[in-house]
Amino acid sequence: MPYLIVSDIHGNYEALEAVLEHARGRYDKILCLGDLVGYGADPNPVAEWAKLNVASVVRGNHDRACTGTDSLEYFNPSARASALWTRGVLTPANLSYLEHLARGPLRIMDGDFDLVHGSPLDEDEYLVGVEDVQFLSNYLETKLTFFGHTHLQGGFLVAPHGIRGIVPDRMVQLEPDYYYLINPGSVGQPRDGDPRAAYALYSREERIVEYGRVPYDIGKAASKILQAGLPESLAMRLFEGV
Ligand code: ZN
Repeated sequence: MPYLIVSDIHGNYEALEAVLEHARGRYDKILCLGDLVGYGADPNPVAEWAKLNVASVVRGNHDRACTGTDSLEYFNPSARASALWTRGVLTPANLSYLEHLARGPLRIMDGDFDLVHGSPLDEDEYLVGVEDVQFLSNYLETKLTFFGHTHLQGGFLVAPHGIRGIVPDRMVQLEPDYYYLINPGSVGQPRDGDPRAAYALYSREERIVEYGRVPYDIGKAASKILQAGLPESLAMRLFEGV
C-alpha cells in the first residue's frame, strides 16, 4: 500500500481533513515533512492528529519557531505574529511533541528513501529552481527524497544528462537510474497559484508518485484566522494560493 506524504500543514485543519478524505483508502502510512503549525488557527488539532496518525515526521522551521527553539529574527512580521500566537495557545503536551520532532534527513528504513523539510543538506534551504538542485546533485545519498518548505508541488529529476523540474499534473513513474526530489506541495498554505490543498501518494512497490489536489473550506479556515486576531494577510492568501 502506498504512503500518504503531506507537508506544510501550517495549522490548517480544514485543509488537512479534505486531504485525508480525498486520499482515504489509498494509503496505509502517513509521512510528514514538517511545518505542522504556524500561520493557521488550529495548531493543537493538527498536532494531536499528527501524534496519533503520522508514522514519521521531520521538523520544519515553523515548528522550531513556534516552540521557541529558534529566534524569530528572520521571520517577516506576519509569520512572527503567528509564531508568537501559536506558542501561546499550544498545550504543554503539544509543545513538547513539536519540540522533539526529528531533524531531517530521516531515512525511512522500510522504504529506503529520505524525508527532509528543506533540502538534504540544510533543513532551512529552499529548493525552488533547477539551479538550487545543481549543487546538491553530488550529495544525494538516496535515489528518492521527499521535501517541502517551498509550498510548491512538484520537484526535480536528477539524471546524468541534467536536472529538470517535474510537472505535478500527472503520475510519475520513477526510473531506477535517476535521482528524484519530490515535493508533495503544501496542505495548508499552497503558494503555487492553486489554492487547493496539496499532497502526494507514493507506491514503493510500483515506484509511482501520484500528486493530489483537493478543494477545501477556505472560508472556514480564513475566518478562524481572523477570529484568532492573526494578520488578515494570512487569511486572504489562502484564497489565492500564494
Ligand atoms: Zn512551510
